[in-house]
Amino acid sequence: MKTSVIGFPRIGKNRELKFASEKYFKEEITEEELLAVAKEIRKGNWLSQKNANVSFISSNDFSFYDNVLDTAVLLNVIPKRYRDLKVSPLSTYFAMARGYQGDKGNVKALAMKKWFNTNYHYIVPEIDDDAEIRLSGNKPVEEYLEAKALGVETKIALIGPFTFLKLARYTGKKAAEDFSLQVVSAYAELLGKLVSAGASWVQFDEPYLVKDLTAEDILLFKAIYTALLSDKRTLKVLLQTYFGDIRDIYSDVTALDFDGIGLDFLEGRKTEELVKENGFPKEKLLFAGLINGKNIWKNNYGKTLEKLSFLNGIAGENVVLSTSCSLLHVPYSLSGEEDLPRDYTKHFAFAEEKLIELSEIEKIASGSDEGKKILSDNEVLFEHRKDSSDDAVKTRVAAISEEDYERKPDFFEREKIQKEKLGLPLFPTTTIGSFPQTQEVRKNRQAFRKGEISKEQYIAFNQEKIKECIALQEEIGLDVLVHGEFERNDMVEYFGEHLSGYVFTRQAWVQSYGTRCVKPPIIWGDVSRKDPITVFWSKFAKSCTNKPVKGMLTGPVTILNWSFPREDISIKESTLQIALAIRDEVLDLEANGIDIIQIDEAALREKLPLRKSDWYSEYLDWAIPAFRLVHSGVKPETQIHTHMCYSEFTDIIPAIDAMDADVITFEASRSDLLILDALLENHFKTEVGPGVYDIHSPRVPSVDEIVAALTKMREKISDSKLWVNPDCGLKTRGNEETKASLLNLVEAAKKVRERR
Ligand code: GLN
Ligand code: ZN
Repeated sequence: MKTSVIGFPRIGKNRELKFASEKYFKEEITEEELLAVAKEIRKGNWLSQKNANVSFISSNDFSFYDNVLDTAVLLNVIPKRYRDLKVSPLSTYFAMARGYQGDKGNVKALAMKKWFNTNYHYIVPEIDDDAEIRLSGNKPVEEYLEAKALGVETKIALIGPFTFLKLARYTGKKAAEDFSLQVVSAYAELLGKLVSAGASWVQFDEPYLVKDLTAEDILLFKAIYTALLSDKRTLKVLLQTYFGDIRDIYSDVTALDFDGIGLDFLEGRKTEELVKENGFPKEKLLFAGLINGKNIWKNNYGKTLEKLSFLNGIAGENVVLSTSCSLLHVPYSLSGEEDLPRDYTKHFAFAEEKLIELSEIEKIASGSDEGKKILSDNEVLFEHRKDSSDDAVKTRVAAISEEDYERKPDFFEREKIQKEKLGLPLFPTTTIGSFPQTQEVRKNRQAFRKGEISKEQYIAFNQEKIKECIALQEEIGLDVLVHGEFERNDMVEYFGEHLSGYVFTRQAWVQSYGTRCVKPPIIWGDVSRKDPITVFWSKFAKSCTNKPVKGMLTGPVTILNWSFPREDISIKESTLQIALAIRDEVLDLEANGIDIIQIDEAALREKLPLRKSDWYSEYLDWAIPAFRLVHSGVKPETQIHTHMCYSEFTDIIPAIDAMDADVITFEASRSDLLILDALLENHFKTEVGPGVYDIHSPRVPSVDEIVAALTKMREKISDSKLWVNPDCGLKTRGNEETKASLLNLVEAAKKVRERR
């Protein structure tokens, strides 16, 4: 049996590419030095796959920033404002990725978007009516030859023309269809060059096929590939899909002249059914995505072999065992995790360990004695998992009743009660939670972590910071205060560390965008809260002022979405466990006199299914109730806030209203306040604080600017429901601009009150 890897992480085992790029940006190293680091990473990646005997290894899966951006540059899709900089090709590339500010000009970066349902972000290609798509680079050929020189024959991974055209943003009158001929000839020329270079396989990544497709989409796809495949010469072409099933186009795809088709049998809920009902063409290779490219758990070999034998029944010997998607979405290697007990790590497989899994399954399938031993060891692993279950948690989840998901009394009655009790002015002012995380704040946390200072010292420092932060907010004149979140490194890791059932890694970094990586914690077992987590800090903050202080928590859906979830129970079940833990925290805060509590759901949208038809049934129908479970136990007079950012909300407004919070604050300043129309149309009941300025930039917004934003908001939101706040937490900002901005914000709110 042959094996295939769709793509490999490229940030470097120890994030070498990240650090080298950052040095390059600061002009501490030269372009040559950066290129050398990249070459070394590619070499290591290829050789580890070769050593693991992978039959189909990808080249061109490397990228300095993002593969979609690479494709845009390869196809000459470089907007004029970047060309006009007249800087080197690499600098132009980075200008598109990160913006450029210097002696050659001043341009913002291209937009960035979530890559399907992952936490990876791609650069959105921008195509205007004058765009001339043609082959204008040679990266795929160069990388193929580079691997070949190392003795590694590769398949060349390319973002497919259909997905590329669908993900692009069109700034003029033209649309994807208008560029299909140009795109076909550019790719055809590239295929010709690859043939001349001696390549035998190319892989076209077409994940867009797993989305809901229109009739026009299907026509476009067929037109592109009918043309392209008629000119493939000696090349073999693999059509690679992932992140779901291709139910809308399966028969069309199998009818085209592809030599291999890659299907995702893990996330594709209908993939197995599609293959079973429609069969699979005898003359093609079926690349079966069975090794999870998105999660870190060891593969269950018995189960995988069962699927393989089912597929052998349909496609005979032509089955290739593959990863389900690129391994980009998992960390590099377990070798950096010596601190974690074997009891845990033996259940994990990061990218390098997944290579071993491919070769082990191949050995088992070959029927060798070694294979038999491997299989029985794997079975033992799944029978004897270090106990992760907590019966009390399971019983509690099982006992959740319908009423537990409903807060009483209804929103409008609560709104009245809360207005009376809190006595806030019209257009109340507040912040999203965190205040600047200065060097000294981080140092204090690190010193405590390393045991360099005592717990008492650590606490005393933070209390001092809270005192200052409260005094500052009083001086500025904000209405609802926060404690500042000085004890938190990260909104998910902090809670994970205080919940049982979590495991943390040292090196398990995953690329999120460009040089930015995240290190998601792992949900190991049943999750529960042993002791109160935030009560101590909130209570202290409250003791420093007579104004209301908002308690600050992260919601269960966000905690789950930014962790590696379990696979032995559903994510719904895990989320409910986390919801109960956070519910306990909410009730403890309330019992300690905190009468406003914010539960952040920044990542609510992250696991929204790719098909709209699945949005509710597969996700929102349990995710939204899980949020309500967190706050449904509080008294009518306790005000529940939530906060969302990083994503579009316009299309899920009713679901957000159904979270039944009393107030929601969100990021709106960058999206031209389009969301306001959607709120109006949907008769949004929840009180709202659309961010009045963008905290991602150090720029201080003027009073007039904020007044203008509020004036616009008042056209769509009734005065009695409008809050005034920045669009996200202030932790990445400096003290100076924070104070100046908030002073202007308070001043603007006053002006609008007076005007009324
Ligand atoms: N309360 C968090 C903060 O202020 C929210 C962060 C976020 O939404 N990303 O930092
Ligand atoms: Zn935010």
